[in-house]
This record gives sequence, C-alpha cells and structure tokens, in this order.
Amino acid sequence: MPRAIPLTGTATWWPSTLYQTTTLELRRAGERLLVDPGISPWEIEEVVSASTMPVTQVLVTHADWDHVMALGALPGAQVTAGRASAERIRSGAARQEIERETAEFLIPHRSIERLHVEQVVDPPAEVRMGPWLGVCRSGPGHTDDGLIVSLPDEHLLVVGDYLSALEIPGVYDSVSAYRDTLEALVGVIERERPQYVVVGHGKPQTSEDALRIADEDLAYLEAVLAHAKAGCSPEDVDRVAVPERGAGSADRTMHAANVAKACEAAAAVGAQG
Ligand SMILES: [Zn+2]
Repeated sequence: MPRAIPLTGTATWWPSTLYQTTTLELRRAGERLLVDPGISPWEIEEVVSASTMPVTQVLVTHADWDHVMALGALPGAQVTAGRASAERIRSGAARQEIERETAEFLIPHRSIERLHVEQVVDPPAEVRMGPWLGVCRSGPGHTDDGLIVSLPDEHLLVVGDYLSALEIPGVYDSVSAYRDTLEALVGVIERERPQYVVVGHGKPQTSEDALRIADEDLAYLEAVLAHAKAGCSPEDVDRVAVPERGAGSADRTMHAANVAKACEAAAAVGAQG
C-alpha cells in the first residue's frame, strides 16, 4: 500500500509513521503547496520528489516540532504562518523543540538551522499563497498559536491538532480556549461543509465525521471545566467521561494533564476573586 492517499483531484494526504502526522500536498497551476510537511528526512524527500512541480508554498498550522520539520529543507518555498508560530520559529524555540523530541524518538533531522517564515498572518485574515487563497482564523487551546485555514478553491478546511479521531484533546494552552475553538470550528464546518476536514494527526475526515468528533470533544471539555469549577475534588474526577480513542495510555496521561490544566486555571481565577 503506498503512503500517499489521494483525497481529491488536487489534494493528497501523506501520513508520517509517527503519530500519523499529516503532510497535505496540493497541486494547482503547476505549483505545489504543502501543509505541515514532515517528519523524517526520507518522508519529506518522498513528498518533494513525487512530482516535478516545484513546492512553492508551505502553510504551518502551528509550530509544534512535528509540524515544522521540513521548512529548512524547502529554502525556495514561501512559508505562511500565524504571528505566534512565526515567533516560535524565528526565536529558535521550534528548533530546540525539534532537537529535543527527535532525540527522544531517534529520528534524524536535516537543515533545521534554516527554518524560515516569509508571510506572517494576523488572524482573522485572508492570505494569498501563490494560486491559493487561505481564509485564516485563530485557533488557540491546543497551543496558543493555532491557525485554522479554509481553502475555498480546494473545498478543504485545515485545522491543525483539533478533531483527531486518534487521540483525545491535548490541551497545552487552555481548556476554555480549546472549547471555544471547537465551537468556532463547528460553526465553520456547518457553514462551509468542506469536502474534507484535514486534521494534524490521522486521515482527513468528512464534515459529518469531524462534527461527531467535535460533539464528543466538546462534551468532554465541558465535563473537565465543570470538574474544575466544582473545586477539583478527587472523588468526582471519575465522573469526567473520556472519549474512546486509540491512543491508550497516552490518552490517560493526556486526560490527567488536561484536568490539572483546568484546575490550575480555576484556582487562578479563585485567587483573583
Ligand atoms: Zn501535532
């Protein structure tokens, strides 16, 4: 079975082995756009060499290490990223994260001293990426730099690390911001009905499947927030139902971290009041 999964006449999904991380490849007017290209050097090389059409555009959904690995290997492409992601990339923080995480997973890397961003987006905003138009909204919650991008000509919605069917929500920023981003995503999906919702990890989904995941994740996050609001007693943490996903012990670890995050935020509000 080949790695490349065709989605539409112009879009291909290239999952990485690690986390099924999405590289989305688009072809239009003799050019290619890659979303979050990665992860290993051979995976990047396989996508780049899949066509003689040059990769002229790169779009970054957020600057976590597994989403920015190929930027240095594509010096001729214009990279588009949100302002907060551009800051993580330009400051060297993204590179440091790559060094730390690739060492842990025994994954080599190439050209990470040359990560670059050319087009900085302040959402909400529309951006031109060569022959593509992107309608950008901010999507904080997973991280504080998430960018949600509609590609109307492609009938695709690119959401980064939300709505994955493979794992429960991972909150590194804020549980309430994550909840708000999911609510905004539901509105966008219902209005635009994209052919695919392209998620950062796992196969792109139909609008119906993405909305089903959104419902489960919203119920979960509301329960986490209610638990925090009620004072975070250890007895009622068991009443927080965790969505059934595939990530096993990683999901349980993530759930504990999500609860801790919500309780920390509730305690901070309590201390102010
Ligand atoms: Zn990710």
